[in-house]
Amino acid sequence: MSAFKEESDISKINSKAGTTSQAVNKDTYFVVKNAVEYSQILEGTFDPTIRPLVKLWNIGNDKETIPKKAKIEEALKLVNYNDVILDESNCTIMLKNKYQALDVGGIAKGFAADEVRDIFHKHKVKSALIDLGGNIFALGSKDDGTPWRVGIQNPFESRGDFIGILNVKDKSIVTSGNYERYFMKDGQRFHHIIDPKTGYPSQSKIISATIISDNSIDGDGLSTGVYILGIHKALKIIEAIKGIDAIFITEDKRVYTTSGIDKNIFVLTNDEFSSVSN
Ligand code: ADP
Ligand code: MG
Repeated sequence: MSAFKEESDISKINSKAGTTSQAVNKDTYFVVKNAVEYSQILEGTFDPTIRPLVKLWNIGNDKETIPKKAKIEEALKLVNYNDVILDESNCTIMLKNKYQALDVGGIAKGFAADEVRDIFHKHKVKSALIDLGGNIFALGSKDDGTPWRVGIQNPFESRGDFIGILNVKDKSIVTSGNYERYFMKDGQRFHHIIDPKTGYPSQSKIISATIISDNSIDGDGLSTGVYILGIHKALKIIEAIKGIDAIFITEDKRVYTTSGIDKNIFVLTNDEFSSVSN
């Protein structure tokens, strides 16, 4: 599913954009299909055709610069999840127009976490903490039967400093933030989640979005998109999805939780932050 490796399904789809469809592995099909579904749910803030913009910004690599406006405008025209043509019966995917390109970097790690969970289930592993960096799967409970305790990173401090603790059993916890992959220019932060409507890194007041769900693919897809949506819409959309909860941290150090998160599940431990329950 890599957008970089030449032989990957995603690269093959990208190189055939606007020409022919590409037969893919069923896992690739499943991930792209889910990505398109999340694009719909998240009103296009999540978009797997974001690749031309991601490539332009090149965030997370050296030599980062702000791209020229004309280049951004050009890349923006290529981003549209409605142009992903899925054919389930043949397991093929095609992009409608030339130069369009897929990037499932915002959702594939969630899929991978679910796969690890399934392998553990198959081998009757009852208790495990799966950590894919930003994607945690707490399988079962701790050995002594108590819930897993997972810290939520303080977005203002270095790695390991948490603002509170989640107590969970059999849940995926995925966080998207602006504090791990970014560069600074003229006092402004340019991070790796790009708003498909503007072509620039998202400017919402959310600086960390955590999704708690049964499947990690859902958490990953949702955490990337809600981040762009802004706090009010994000809360509304997550509340409307059964079985999924969220914790959002805004730049004014408020911590918003959805209604499924009670005091037994999430404990705010850092008093610099104030909690706002939905
Ligand atoms: P991470 O990979 O750091 O855990 P995310 O799950 O939030 O973070 O995904 C970020 C990645 O998603 C980016 O590196 C990029 O490949 C891709 N991406 C960036 N903006 C968007 C977007 N608006 N919609 C879908 N994918 C995006
Ligand atoms: Mg994601």
